[in-house]
Amino acid sequence: MIIIMLGAPGAGKGTIGKRLAVQLGITHLSSGDVFRALTKDNTKLGEEIKECINGGKLIPDKLAMQIFEDKIVKYNLEKGIILDGYPRTLMQAKHLDKLFKNMELKVDIAMNIDVEDQLIIDRIVNRRICSNSRCGEIYNLKYGKIPKVDGICDKCGENLIQRADDNEITVRDRLKIYDENTRPLLKYYNKRGVLWNVHSAEDTSIDDIVHQTMIHIEDMD
Ligand code: AMP
Repeated sequence: MIIIMLGAPGAGKGTIGKRLAVQLGITHLSSGDVFRALTKDNTKLGEEIKECINGGKLIPDKLAMQIFEDKIVKYNLEKGIILDGYPRTLMQAKHLDKLFKNMELKVDIAMNIDVEDQLIIDRIVNRRICSNSRCGEIYNLKYGKIPKVDGICDKCGENLIQRADDNEITVRDRLKIYDENTRPLLKYYNKRGVLWNVHSAEDTSIDDIVHQTMIHIEDMD
């Protein structure tokens, strides 16, 4: 089962994608995590990527495709994978389709989490992430998963941090970039008959979304 997570930044792709991966027993791979890991290297490439991420801009297609696709082929894709945040442009989607076709695989579900912009902004500025990259648990100070002890990860006890790009100005830019570059993918995957759309409002529970999606997957078999 190959699942692609679509949706604006802050829509819940990471949280929902991780939950689905556990239920399905497959890998969850976040492109943002892959690119953020590279910014820790003291290299020209790392600096270039850091500038894009912190400025809320997409990493240029050629570079993003090369890095992320080199990474995904290292996994056992036949077992299945959840790609969270990749593809994010039509060029990436077409390139990925070609890669999968050569491996006799295909995207089974393109899951779109649809959330209103104002709710996204509110969620993102309140998002906190575990600083331990091996944990990476995601919290929110206002919605859903609130940490039991302020600033500390419930799971591993490390400090929680706010991502440099999780501020209102950058979020507005990221939403604009999403509309221009990523929203067209909904039509692209809808035409292929694999789009699975869920709406997430302020009172929608993550459990419900995960549950509905698992039923959808069972119905596909
Ligand atoms: P995310 O953690 O998914 O919000 O991604 C954080 C940042 O990583 C984005 O704002 C982009 O700068 C970069 N990024 C992640 N995925 C992609 C992608 N598929 N193409 C280009 N840039 C990406």
